[in-house]
This record gives sequence, structure tokens and C-alpha cells, in this order.
Amino acid sequence: MMMVDVKAELCRLGREMLARNLTTGSGGNLSVYDRRQDRVYITPSGLAYMALTADDIVVCDGRGAVVEGARRPSSELGFHLALYHHREDIGAVVHTHSVFATTLACMHREIPPVHYLVGFAGPKVPLAPYATFGTPALARAITDTIGASNAILLANHGLVAIGANLSAAFDVAEEIELVARIYYQTLVAGEPRLLSESQMTEVLEKFKGYGQKT
Ligand SMILES: [Zn+2]
Repeated sequence: MMMVDVKAELCRLGREMLARNLTTGSGGNLSVYDRRQDRVYITPSGLAYMALTADDIVVCDGRGAVVEGARRPSSELGFHLALYHHREDIGAVVHTHSVFATTLACMHREIPPVHYLVGFAGPKVPLAPYATFGTPALARAITDTIGASNAILLANHGLVAIGANLSAAFDVAEEIELVARIYYQTLVAGEPRLLSESQMTEVLEKFKGYGQKT
């Protein structure tokens, strides 16, 4: 993807987060890592997605030094970088405060396999212990807990979704919010009936081959 396209895509999916009720105002943040060039493209701190243009996207090197852009990067740049350094398969990070995922995170609950779509993340969505936003302690809590998952809840904070690219990470954020909502509703209405480990193993196996074959 061309550099300009990456910036435009970050703006577009930022607005898409609003449109799909995954965040409000300027909440949450998104980034893409170009591993070959060692460049992180990230949304700026505190700017409303509706007003965001490609020029507002901040470009940093892999250590977080700004190399392009007049804005300050998202206050969560630290955990985005930590994730890119922690796992080589990660090409994009989407962080939301989507309501149902965040509700569970505020109850210090993981998301168990209550619906097969949890497989977008893995056999479950783990929960990172609470740490103040924007701190190295939060970055450490995330990398210590995420394992091989494509999503993680942050206690009393929100959700982080990752993927090989931005649209994959966005899909994870959206699907896990759906599963979080379903899980919450089953807890409110009665007793969730969970999928077994072997049923989830089968789902994860099928997910590997899912989608359009080219
Ligand atoms: Zn946040």
C-alpha cells in the first residue's frame, strides 16, 4: 500500500469506528506498521475522527520518534509499538472503547467461547490487568497477556484488536464487540452455554481457510 493510501485508510476507518459505534469523538486509536521501512502510521492525539485528514496522521520510526507530521501521536503510541515489537505477525492495531467489550473489561471478565465468532481473536479474549492509559505499565500488561490472541480486553479501559493489516484488525474489533454484546446479554438474561475446547479448535481450523481463495 502506498504511503498516502495508508494515511487515507486510517482516516476512513477512524470514521468507520464512529459509524459502527465502536468509539465516540476522538476515542480509541489506529495504527499501521510498515515493517520493511520501520515506519508506524498512527492517528493523532485528541483529534475528532470526523475532522481527520491524511495530513493529521503521524509517522514515527519503530522507537516512537516522529519523522513526519505536525501533530502529536496518539497517547497510546507506546502500546502500539510494544505490540509490533512483541509479535512479528502484527501489521496493524485498532484500539476502541466499544461499549460491550469495555463493560466486560470493567467487570474484569475475559470473553469465553460463548459464540464461535470469538475465533476472530482465538479460543477466548484474554484480559490485561489495569494500568493507567498511555503508560509503559499498560504496554507491558498487554504484551504479558496477549499470547497468540488477536484481541485483548484492557481492564477498566477498552479493547485492543490486531491483525496482519488494518482491515483485518478492524474486523477483529467489530466482531469481538458483537461477541462481547452477546456474552453480556447472556449473563444478564441467564446462563451462557459455552463452546467446548474441541469445538473451538474446529472453528479456529476452519477460520484458517475461510474467505475468498485467490
Ligand atoms: Zn483507550
